[in-house]
Amino acid sequence: MTTSIKPSKKVIPIVSDHSSDKFMSMYEAQSKIYPRNISGIFKNWRWIMIWITQIVFYGTPWLMWNDRQAMLLDVSTHRFYIFGLVLYPQDLIYLVVILIISALALFLFTAVAGRLWCGFSCPQSVYTEIFLWMERKIEGDRAARMRLDSMKFSFKKLHKKFLKHAAWIGFSMVTGFTFLGYFSPIRDLLDNIIQYRLSPWETFWICFYGFATYGNAGFLREQVCKHMCPYARFQSAMFDNDTLIVTYDQERGEPRSGRSRNVDAKKEGLGDCIDCSFCVQVCPVGIDIRNGLQYECISCGLCVDACNSIMDKMQYPRGLIRFSTQNGVEKHWSQHQILKKILRPRVLIYSGLLILLSLGLVLSLTIRPAFKVDVNRDRGVMSRLAPGGMVENVYQIQLTNVTENQQTYRVSVHGLKGMTTTSDTEITVNPASERLVAISLQIADGSIRKGTHPIIFDVESVTSKEHVEQKSSFYMP
Ligand code: SF4
Ligand code: SF4
Repeated sequence: MTTSIKPSKKVIPIVSDHSSDKFMSMYEAQSKIYPRNISGIFKNWRWIMIWITQIVFYGTPWLMWNDRQAMLLDVSTHRFYIFGLVLYPQDLIYLVVILIISALALFLFTAVAGRLWCGFSCPQSVYTEIFLWMERKIEGDRAARMRLDSMKFSFKKLHKKFLKHAAWIGFSMVTGFTFLGYFSPIRDLLDNIIQYRLSPWETFWICFYGFATYGNAGFLREQVCKHMCPYARFQSAMFDNDTLIVTYDQERGEPRSGRSRNVDAKKEGLGDCIDCSFCVQVCPVGIDIRNGLQYECISCGLCVDACNSIMDKMQYPRGLIRFSTQNGVEKHWSQHQILKKILRPRVLIYSGLLILLSLGLVLSLTIRPAFKVDVNRDRGVMSRLAPGGMVENVYQIQLTNVTENQQTYRVSVHGLKGMTTTSDTEITVNPASERLVAISLQIADGSIRKGTHPIIFDVESVTSKEHVEQKSSFYMP
């Protein structure tokens, strides 16, 4: 049977895969997708990325730095430890800049290579692939899984389902435990688990994140990408005709038709697509890339691997489905011509902004003072008379030591002649800690005019000799 599809002029429209035009209820039950296993270059790259991301995710909380966890987002003490860096709530600006850099990087990668993030690094895709691997090991590949699901209830079915869900839940709980280990010291957490001493909150968060992983990667899978992820919805705004995407070469593939290897396709007027549907069977989101680029496509490249394996068997050239650009396919560009288009204005602007912001972040972190000073007048006592005809003002000084060593600071005050301090001016603060101290200043009554006078607190680190100045005022009644 020969199916003829007229090649459309716009080769790569981003459309929904509801190609049959039949009415689809929002509440219609989705049919389960049974992705078929495939080997090939993109499959290998996916697994390389899975290994890298998972080694980083599971390994990072166990790394140590200066006798503490290297990466700890300690919400209870309001400190973020990121290797040698200790961030406080006042450093929120750095986190904002890091988020902006991440967003810009996503824009840049999307402009260059479409949804590579989705297909190769997004936790949803990564965990779905890991869960699929467990499913395949226990229940078998696509055909075996479909058979098992359509089987009536039996001990064999129950046994396989039990094993699969036990493996999924075990893996999910380890993931939940690791996730919590970024917010609470992971070694203490492990001790608490071993000694059955987990607090109700710790138990809740491990189970919450664990079951989110189990639900998303085990059951929701492609539904998260299709209906819950906002990125899928606005990605097309970041695409242009030179963005690398997974494309089906309609001109070469159509008219599609099944045939034996001995048939001369050219003589028969056939395209290279043998309509085997292998590309659809391997697709983790269950779409047919031959209908054009769809917003559901996560650019995982598995259909490229599948089609290439068919092309090899048919002894046709590879690349009927390939990573290319809209211009590349329409204008029959070579790989070199396609790659030359990477350096276009949009990419250069994103790259420039990314480099500037990253340099700015590194520079501001490098010159960040090793301690912070906050001076507040004592609200209870505006000004009071002290023995010896002196007038006294009291201040609260908050010193934050952002280094990981104990530090001593020397406080001095300038601005008014004859002003003295009656408090201890050498203050020691523990590593990565804050200390609030009261400092009282005195000046002879009547030696300055009545009213408010500007003064400057100068705090010097005894070890590094670094200075931080803070403005304040002295009130003479
Ligand atoms: S169409 Fe191809 S690249 Fe897109 S999600 Fe499916 S298998 Fe992956
Ligand atoms: S795998 Fe290739 S040949 Fe088979 S249906 Fe898909 S595009 Fe056609």
